Amino acid sequence: SLSDKLDKAFHVLKGHGQITEVNVAETLKEVRRALVDADVNFKTAKEFTNIVKEKALGQNVLKSLKPNQLMVKIVKDELTEMMGGDAEGIDLSGNPSVILMSGLQGSGKTTFSGKLANFLKTKKTKKPLLVACDVYRPAAIDQLHVVGEQIGVEVFSNKEEKNPVAIAEAAIAHAKQNGHNVVILDTAGRLAVDEVMMNEISDIYKAVQPQETLFVVDAMTGQDAVNTAKAFNNVLDFDGVILTKLDGDTRGGAAISIKSVVNKPIKFIGTGEKMDAIDVFYPSRMADRILGMGDVVSLVERAQEQYDEEEARKIQKKIAKDKFGFDDFLKQIQQVKKMGSMKDLMGMIPGAGKMMKNMDIDDDAFKHIEAMIHSMTPLERKNPTSINASRKKRISKGSGTTVQEVNQLLKQFTQMSKMMKMMQGGGGKKMMQMMKN
Ligand code: GDP
Ligand code: MG
Repeated sequence: SLSDKLDKAFHVLKGHGQITEVNVAETLKEVRRALVDADVNFKTAKEFTNIVKEKALGQNVLKSLKPNQLMVKIVKDELTEMMGGDAEGIDLSGNPSVILMSGLQGSGKTTFSGKLANFLKTKKTKKPLLVACDVYRPAAIDQLHVVGEQIGVEVFSNKEEKNPVAIAEAAIAHAKQNGHNVVILDTAGRLAVDEVMMNEISDIYKAVQPQETLFVVDAMTGQDAVNTAKAFNNVLDFDGVILTKLDGDTRGGAAISIKSVVNKPIKFIGTGEKMDAIDVFYPSRMADRILGMGDVVSLVERAQEQYDEEEARKIQKKIAKDKFGFDDFLKQIQQVKKMGSMKDLMGMIPGAGKMMKNMDIDDDAFKHIEAMIHSMTPLERKNPTSINASRKKRISKGSGTTVQEVNQLLKQFTQMSKMMKMMQGGGGKKMMQMMKN
């Protein structure tokens, strides 16, 4: 997959202690290859890596403190930028607002028409009307009726009428009479771009002058999607793209290519067959998806970079000599804190993100511990067993905590010191794990 390949590309960087111009170039070559493999067209991929390279050199990646992270960030930001920056809505200002669907047969127009109607009805309290403009296949009309029934939205159709322009116009008149403020025109598509289809859709387009013309495209069709988008854009000058079938593991490469070739925003994505499988398109989320890393890369890097091996060795020696004290403990806390907040760290673990929303990981816990240690005298820090009842009282007062909290800290510290002594070889790494528990 693309994410594996990008992982590999970034791995090239990770292997080296220091990034050089040579391995920046090498990494970008890998990135470009990975993008092309994910159906980003070659020209786009090349442009992309050129921009990234310029930015990387401009921001002086080579001299930065954390070159790998900065590089990953530039790649992600640039991907986001390439896919359109901020999310864009659709124009609902008309009365009714007419939305025209275009795209090949099977791209998901009928399904998306239903999803959009449902979305507008529930999220925007609109009263949409679905219109069946596919005059070739009676089954297509029936399909739209089934969709309409599912979501409780009226469907306008006329099996006798063979002119889609006439149907569209009649539907708009019907909408005005019946207080529908959004009209969604579902149209016929063909298996490939041809003249009949293009003439028909452009006739509808000219006749009804929609507020919003959307081009629906199956994200799984890869490189073809770009050519189809170009053909439709030449005739319709559409306002936005709908990427369907982005469920599961579908490659997202088409999103980058389409945006850069036709320069139209992607507005929504379809993520399944059900009526609620619709999402507003967020370029930065898509970039995450394409990079597919759940930010594991940066988690690993942060852990590696911030964890000071030298410090760990020193501490190990102290433990062995029973000389591990609160000053060392404080250093350890600071190491962990350098890696970011607990919430940040957990958020980078794939799958943990959702869990975290409902949990309250308390970075304040660290603050209290630090405050208590800061209230200890150097002697107390070196020799925690010297902390008697009156000292505990003084520490709690000085740190704004309770004596119970001081007791708890001392107890935890004693337990930890014992365990660390037992683990010996394990050093600080295991200690970090313990502190998380
Ligand atoms: P149309 O010919 O452009 O109107 O395409 P349809 O709406 O009839 O969709 C064609 C097929 O793709 C149907 O089987 C849909 O259920 C399916 N489909 C549409 N959108 C999605 C999607 O986002 N995800 C998945 N998995 N299937 C979709
Ligand atoms: Mg259809």
